[in-house]
Amino acid sequence: EASMQREDAETELKNAKEFKGHDMLAPFTAGWQASDTNPLVIEKSKGAYVWDINGKKYLDSLAGLWCTALGGSEPRLVAAAIAQLNTLPFYHSFWNRTTKPSLDLAKELLNTFTATKMGKAFFTNSGSEANDTQVKLVWYYNNALGRPNKKKFIAREKSYHGSTLISASLSGLPALHQKFDLPAPFVLHTDCPHYWRYHLPGESEEEFSTRLANNLENLILKEGPETIAAFIAEPVMGAGGVIPPPATYFDKIQPILKKYDILFIADEVICAFGRLGTMFGCDKYGMKPDLVSMAKALSSAYMPIGAVLVSPEISDVIDSQSNKLGVFSHGFTYSGHPVSCAVALEALKIYKERNIAEVVQRISPKFQNGLKAFSDSPIIGEIRGTGLILGTEFTDNKSPNDVFPPEWGKFHLSFAFIFCIGAYFGAQCQKHGMLVRVAGDSIMMSPPFIITPEEVDELISIYGKALKATEERVKELKSL
Ligand code: PMP
Repeated sequence: EASMQREDAETELKNAKEFKGHDMLAPFTAGWQASDTNPLVIEKSKGAYVWDINGKKYLDSLAGLWCTALGGSEPRLVAAAIAQLNTLPFYHSFWNRTTKPSLDLAKELLNTFTATKMGKAFFTNSGSEANDTQVKLVWYYNNALGRPNKKKFIAREKSYHGSTLISASLSGLPALHQKFDLPAPFVLHTDCPHYWRYHLPGESEEEFSTRLANNLENLILKEGPETIAAFIAEPVMGAGGVIPPPATYFDKIQPILKKYDILFIADEVICAFGRLGTMFGCDKYGMKPDLVSMAKALSSAYMPIGAVLVSPEISDVIDSQSNKLGVFSHGFTYSGHPVSCAVALEALKIYKERNIAEVVQRISPKFQNGLKAFSDSPIIGEIRGTGLILGTEFTDNKSPNDVFPPEWGKFHLSFAFIFCIGAYFGAQCQKHGMLVRVAGDSIMMSPPFIITPEEVDELISIYGKALKATEERVKELKSL
């Protein structure tokens, strides 16, 4: 035990003491973490790497928070921001006043999203605001159509749609609800489509999808279809553990939504702009949404911006309703911020010029196959992913139900907010110069699209070292 603690102490940052007990009420951080441990303070970035304030270099395997698609030093994005700052650092888009970058970006997004025809774009500052906006748009639309009872939303267990009151309600993660009096009562949650964890013995992926679609239909019928306004889904679930949909899932879900006149919202905040090897997640899975949320890679995260695209039917109804009411009274000071829009326009230009979806297609087999080769590890239950997004789940005996005792990660909590063996793995990655996302026993990675083959090799090598150390740790703990 003592030797383990010593080893753990070594993995702590050595000389960042001055930030212990800092003054930030930090997002998704425990109070004791801020008071008792040193935060990892990131100071600069270049390409796929970031450096902490002590000069230690890390391969940023999560691209910030699944967002710096073009890496940490794309000069064209910086130039676009500076040019806009020098011309017009701010003007708003209220009351039929606006700026050219926001008009151009709206047009560009409508041209870029081709899974289905979209009518108009609304700008936000984040993915959470985009999803809050979705709820308001859908309610406004249904009120305009004279169906005030069609207001409920169906989301999925383990989904992540944001952390504002409404987007956290849509999210299907208990931690986002507990002690916040959430979810709001109009939100219902249906099954998480994670085949490995939830399929019945002998059930194929297709049969699993059929069962989930039936469960969704039963929920709709139980609640009354006339009360259900919309269904929201991420193409690949991100923060819930990187969960690609099982075969035929969206093919089976979408006709049910159509049948009961329920709007389909695609939350593309993580998947959009190439992450899955297609421009949008919708392109990959044949999703034909009525509304789409995006953020993150929209500006490669260099400036905060999110967007909602709505179908022509919805934008027509909203336009005619707002003609009656005077104005469409929704928006943020920074909706369509010109600097954010200018950076997003440049990001979209780069994605098109470089054919970014193909860039991801070319590099992803190396990333996916290289990491999935570790699937045989006795402590790994499943490695899953597609394109440049991947999740690893630690379990014992290859069984989704045999979780490792949470306290096995208890000396590694400066790196994760839950007790878990995953935190040990995350700490080992950090020690060897790589940042991963740890959430319980899931490890998530989504490197920037500009990652090189050599950097993928390095990523796989560090993952291998961290895995070996974690396997040894588990062996040691089991023998105690
Ligand atoms: N939707 C999805 C699918 C996300 O992954 C996230 C953020 N991780 C959000 C919405 C919320 O975005 P933001 O943090 O920008 O509010």
